[in-house]
Amino acid sequence: MATVEVNNLIKKYGPFEAVKKISFEINKGEIFGLIGPNGAGKTTTLRVISTLLQINSGEVNILGYDLKKQPDEIRKIISYLPEDAGAYKTLTGRAYLKFIAKFFYEKNTNEMMERGIKIADLDSRIDDKVDTYSKGMKRRLLVGRALMTEPKLAILDEPTSGLDVINAQEIRKIIKNIAAKGTTILLSSHNMLEVEFLCDRIALIDNGIIIEKGKPKDLMKKYNSNNIEEVFAKVVKWANLEI
Ligand code: ATP
Repeated sequence: MATVEVNNLIKKYGPFEAVKKISFEINKGEIFGLIGPNGAGKTTTLRVISTLLQINSGEVNILGYDLKKQPDEIRKIISYLPEDAGAYKTLTGRAYLKFIAKFFYEKNTNEMMERGIKIADLDSRIDDKVDTYSKGMKRRLLVGRALMTEPKLAILDEPTSGLDVINAQEIRKIIKNIAAKGTTILLSSHNMLEVEFLCDRIALIDNGIIIEKGKPKDLMKKYNSNNIEEVFAKVVKWANLEI
């Protein structure tokens, strides 16, 4: 059984169809990237799978739970990192992780917090207030927050957006390590070079439609391209020719 199964998902905002009948599945421990330009429908898809938005049509199953009928069960096994997530600025990083662990979870909260601290890897700065953190440090803290619960599925919206090369690399390393331990990862990015290195499989999305999917290496071969950026350009061009 796949960890995530999405079948013919449609999501509308009023009459506007932001996600148009998309389908994909993600296997256990896989890093799956939803890749596409601004406004393609990535965040909408991630928010649907995170149970934050209601589906108009189609099915989503996560580890056998039906998103429409069992959202509470799904919430217990997933973790979602929004693109624009913030942390409480007046708390220290450690206090923030402790607060989240205690507020949202009942068991093993100290263990959870320690795991978050280890993932965030902020050394002594973990005891400084969040409003003294750089953007990269805040993002690392939030990645720690998202992954400290050891979710079965982590949904990460643009996890490295706005980060410098070193911080982005650190976060990619964290994601790889967590996936190697069995957590399934669904992430979004418009950084096509990043996903080439990070993702086991990707889906290219444009205007709410998945126009291609597969392993980055296989797609580069199929489209005779040197990188995913080139693949994307070719697929978009051909998709438009077919319309
Ligand atoms: P980005 O890379 O810029 O974050 P995205 O691929 O995540 O883009 P979405 O945020 O999912 O794209 O948006 C998809 C489409 O849905 C866009 O046309 C956007 O304007 C529209 N949209 C998103 N949220 C809403 C909303 N609350 N109400 C109406 N339209 C929306």
